[in-house]
Amino acid sequence: MEYDSQLRSPDLRKYIGKLLLQKEIPQGVLSSNHFTQIPSINRKTFHYQCHRCGNNKRSLFGKIPCGLCQKEHLYCRSCIQMGRVMECEPLFYWSGEQLSWPSYDAPLTWEGSLTDAQQKASNNLVQAIQEKEREHLIWAVCGAGKTEMLFKGIEYGLKVGKRICIATPRADVVRELKPRIQDAFQEVPIEALYGGSDDRVGESQVILATTHQLLRFYQTFDLMIIDEVDAFPYHHDPTLPFAVNRAKKSTCTTIYLTATPRQNLLLKMAFKQLPHTFVPVRYHGHPLPVPELKMSYSLHKDLKQKKFPKHITNWITNRPKPNRQLLLFVPTILLAEQVVKNLQDITNGRLGVIDSVHADDPDRIEKVDLFRIRKIQVLVTTTILERGVTFPSVDVVVLDAGHSVFDEAALVQIAGRAGRNKKDPTGEVLFIHDGKTNAMVRAIQSIKQMNKRGGFSL
Ligand SMILES: [Zn+2]
Ligand SMILES: [Zn+2]
Repeated sequence: MEYDSQLRSPDLRKYIGKLLLQKEIPQGVLSSNHFTQIPSINRKTFHYQCHRCGNNKRSLFGKIPCGLCQKEHLYCRSCIQMGRVMECEPLFYWSGEQLSWPSYDAPLTWEGSLTDAQQKASNNLVQAIQEKEREHLIWAVCGAGKTEMLFKGIEYGLKVGKRICIATPRADVVRELKPRIQDAFQEVPIEALYGGSDDRVGESQVILATTHQLLRFYQTFDLMIIDEVDAFPYHHDPTLPFAVNRAKKSTCTTIYLTATPRQNLLLKMAFKQLPHTFVPVRYHGHPLPVPELKMSYSLHKDLKQKKFPKHITNWITNRPKPNRQLLLFVPTILLAEQVVKNLQDITNGRLGVIDSVHADDPDRIEKVDLFRIRKIQVLVTTTILERGVTFPSVDVVVLDAGHSVFDEAALVQIAGRAGRNKKDPTGEVLFIHDGKTNAMVRAIQSIKQMNKRGGFSL
């Protein structure tokens, strides 16, 4: 057949292992009869299901007239950010001969070394892939160096010609991972896919992607690594686990990575349904900084009156290591901007450059880079920087730590931003509140518990 001989042509890689619309496939390729067609929306009397994102909530379907068919159609609102798909438009996936991916002799160009704890996790990971375990969890504290633990597993996968995906709910994490993974596997083509990424095609053997981007893939990965599996929005949005599952081959090994596993994974571990490796120590061998709670009775009154609580200013200006940069977490965008202004007024330039960043900030990436090179000294941020980012020497403050956005996992992750570098392995972490919450108490307990398991006395 005409197309069989061209199967390994790079061009077809764009289409194989994807879930596509007719307009995304050139007519010549589509007419090869190697595609299977499925309806985009399955409609029964009382039940709709979107086959692109798995959504089956009736309230998330809309109806509009179709210009082509001259009648009303359903469309799914849950995945509309990928473009609207009308009920009459089928989806296509390649069902012809599968691609075989190259096997590399020595793909790993990284020359660093692992700590004992990292080595153990790395060995378990390779073993899980070799023995085709379905799932394995690596539960590694913040700053354990989990990316390096992946290298040997990825290397093994590449040696045996596997297609590999490293997925994570957060675009910042994808951006941070891309140069590190590419640097460790310099000869291997790697694409990073996220909203607004330069890479867009998704035809490489190794794909880094937000879990959202996996809605475009279909049964193609042999090894799926999900980093920060507990992060928002993965555990909130059922279409994301749906997308990840569909992107995997039935024989796929899935590796979960997290510092703060949520209830579903903890339960699976408790019932011995999820093999796992615990890495309780940071790569530099120092314990996790334990947050300090600071009560501020007038906190909400102060914030309402747009005043920055005075004794917190005192704390900031009298820190034991004033050269450290400061990451100041706030619950809302509005508060972020206000706090910058307050702090600038109060400190009159003494703290250096103060700026804020949040999810909708157009300069978000640049500001994080400026903070990383110390051009910004105090960065006021929403929870977008709670995880996946590493700064060499920071103290951390959470303002209004009792706010509901700061759940236990968020607080543990935030505290984990301090003391990540060998040269400055500690850091102050302060939770400012006007009433202790369970999340604060549990976050501190869990950090102490991990230090204890890591061999540090409480
Ligand atoms: Zn959908
Ligand atoms: Zn139609």
